Amino acid sequence: MASTRIEWMCKKCGKKTIRLESEGRPQPGTCPKNSGKEHAWVKNRKL
Ligand SMILES: [Zn+2]
Repeated sequence: MASTRIEWMCKKCGKKTIRLESEGRPQPGTCPKNSGKEHAWVKNRKL
């Protein structure tokens, strides 16, 4: 069974990161376009 990868994108700054679907959401981190708060991750696409 292939492991699906998810491309996440921050809707504030546009940063992208790829994770396995089973790993869940990326670390919140710090978003430079969101007043220094967390990135606003949304699922961009499946790979
Ligand atoms: Zn961000």
